[in-house]
Amino acid sequence: MTKKVNGYLHKNPMGDGYSVRFFCPHCCIWHRHGAPGGLAEIGNTTDRAPHCLPGSPLRDRGVDITIRSTPFEKAEKTVKAATPAQQSMIRQGRSSAAIERLRAQPAVTLP
Ligand SMILES: [Zn+2]
Repeated sequence: MTKKVNGYLHKNPMGDGYSVRFFCPHCCIWHRHGAPGGLAEIGNTTDRAPHCLPGSPLRDRGVDITIRSTPFEKAEKTVKAATPAQQSMIRQGRSSAAIERLRAQPAVTLP
């Protein structure tokens, strides 16, 4: 079954358009997906195969991303993401108390 997550629009720094960002509850980082055309509409839900680190259960399950009205730049400030060293551990299927604290953060649920 797909995992439901909140997505936030991120204006492309190199031109027009937006990407969709969501905070991955396994990888503890923000994944980025393209948002062609109407997929970037607030309130829409779009299913994607997430760009997860190896070993993530979400890779097979997929995610349903619901686009929220809060800009990514604001949503990003509400959670703490994994450091590169923690991402390396997650990639190896390892964890730590700090990684589990990252995973236990409340899901981003801004409007
Ligand atoms: Zn992920």
